[in-house]
Amino acid sequence: MTKNINIVWFKRDLRITDHRPLLEASVLDGPVLPLYVVELDYWQQSFSSRRHWHFIYDCLVDLNVALTELGQPLVIKVGNVCNIIKSLHSEFNIAGIYVHEETGNLWTYQRDVNVKRLCTRDNIPLHEYPLNGVVRRLQTRNTWSTIRDQRMREKILPKPELLHPVDDLTSDKLPDKDSSIFGADLNGQVQHGGRNAAVTELKGFLNTRSSRYLYHISAPGLSSTHCSRLSAHLAWGSLSTREVVQSVKKRQQQLAPEERKRFGRNLTAFSSRLAWRCHFIQKIEDQPEIEIHCMHPLFEGLREGYHDEAKYQAWATGHTGYPFIDACMRNLIYDGWITFRMRAMLVSFASYQLWLDWRVTGDHLARLFTDYEPGIHYSQLQMQSGVTGINAMRAYNPIKQSLEHDPKGLYIRKWVPELENLPDEFIHEPWKCSNDLIDNTHYLLNTNYPQPIVDHASAVKEAKQRIAEVRGDTQFQILSKTVYNKHGSRKLRAKKSKKSRTTDQIELF
Ligand SMILES: Cc1cc2nc3c(=O)[nH]c(=O)nc-3n(C[C@H](O)[C@H](O)[C@H](O)COP(=O)(O)OP(=O)(O)OC[C@H]3O[C@@H](n4cnc5c(N)ncnc54)[C@H](O)[C@@H]3O)c2cc1C
Repeated sequence: MTKNINIVWFKRDLRITDHRPLLEASVLDGPVLPLYVVELDYWQQSFSSRRHWHFIYDCLVDLNVALTELGQPLVIKVGNVCNIIKSLHSEFNIAGIYVHEETGNLWTYQRDVNVKRLCTRDNIPLHEYPLNGVVRRLQTRNTWSTIRDQRMREKILPKPELLHPVDDLTSDKLPDKDSSIFGADLNGQVQHGGRNAAVTELKGFLNTRSSRYLYHISAPGLSSTHCSRLSAHLAWGSLSTREVVQSVKKRQQQLAPEERKRFGRNLTAFSSRLAWRCHFIQKIEDQPEIEIHCMHPLFEGLREGYHDEAKYQAWATGHTGYPFIDACMRNLIYDGWITFRMRAMLVSFASYQLWLDWRVTGDHLARLFTDYEPGIHYSQLQMQSGVTGINAMRAYNPIKQSLEHDPKGLYIRKWVPELENLPDEFIHEPWKCSNDLIDNTHYLLNTNYPQPIVDHASAVKEAKQRIAEVRGDTQFQILSKTVYNKHGSRKLRAKKSKKSRTTDQIELF
């Protein structure tokens, strides 16, 4: 007789605590098959990268150890998930598939549609559970934050007591980090993934590093120590958002009086960002097409026809001639992480000064970010490119940013060694130094390091004019309202209208 099994399908939830699908499956009578599928087609997509796989690999190693202790190691399958389910269903009788709702990109969305169809056709019960604060089939944004906050208060689910093992089961080998499946070679290093690293990072941040969180949040270099660095752990699920939210709360409650001044405000600011996280992911849940279409339809077609490959390559490799831009990009290429402001500046520079389309630059950044999270990623790309219609237009001045955040040019010198010997006064604008200085300092303006590829001030002026033309369309405000109703943050609006009841301007994160 064919054996009944239940499958727990792991995706972006690589942990065993606060994992409802796993817990639900574990209390059933039958054996449980914990499954991770290395989906070959996914790894061919333009947003995926070997850097992601390195991080996931670490997560899977820890997950396997944890599941083995429960009685059934992780089963790896390499291939197409529908074919794998079909094959397992012919070998066993799949009594149920237990899985979190994934709010990913259009590729994972379509894959989930295919899996659902297959399950309906073959009478395989598919049990899906909400993940984080994202609400499926949300009726209105007005109620979203209440639902989200309620979810964050719910009890953290314990790990299962045990899993009944499945006999006669074969697992594929976990592909190595350097397997050819995962595309181009890695050019740099990767933050360590996995549950153990996640817990260490969380504790270190809450107990120590967060004391300077707000102070250093935008400081290149220092931000990597004083930000939480939890984004990749949250993106691939070695921690649940609820676990982090509740850990912060606990820490806040336990702060000794002398610690309150150092940590209080920082932890509150960090908590807000965890709420933003869910807020942004909700946007792509409600409208998956924002991966490829501008939120505000009148911005469609704005930049698509203007692609300049030379400018794109200069930006993508950190050779624009703007030292701070290039330092940020080279830092990102090497480490797979930079702080929020620097991400925003890189996109803004590409979108305004270079007039490159956010979909093209977004793919490059998705591959570089270890924490690639579609909901945050595509919404932020659109915001920083001025195409949401509900956010203020913000074009960063790379020289001003450089002066503010790297006044002595230490960060620039680290990441753009061509400029190592340049005096401080020219480090932000090397094109201003005279020819004899170039000789004396071995700064070879025209050989080692490029001249600026655009004049940033005139390029921004032109970009703003083009955007203003779209904003001047008679339909613009009407369509903006529709975007706001779907995606706008009600919390910020409420705060703003308390401060000033005279303005009706929509300003959102
Ligand atoms: C163009 C662009 C693309 C981005 N793409 C991603 C992405 O793919 N994945 C990603 O996790 N973050 C993305 N961000 C948001 C932000 O830059 C990162 O979340 C943050 O830098 C991660 O570092 P951290 O965990 O130390 O952040 P912390 O400052 O410690 O914040 C804690 C957590 O809050 C969330 N968070 C922080 N800032 C934001 C924000 N502005 N919007 C939404 N959630 C936020 C993240 O989950 C983060 O891990 C992007 C920002 C921009 C401007």
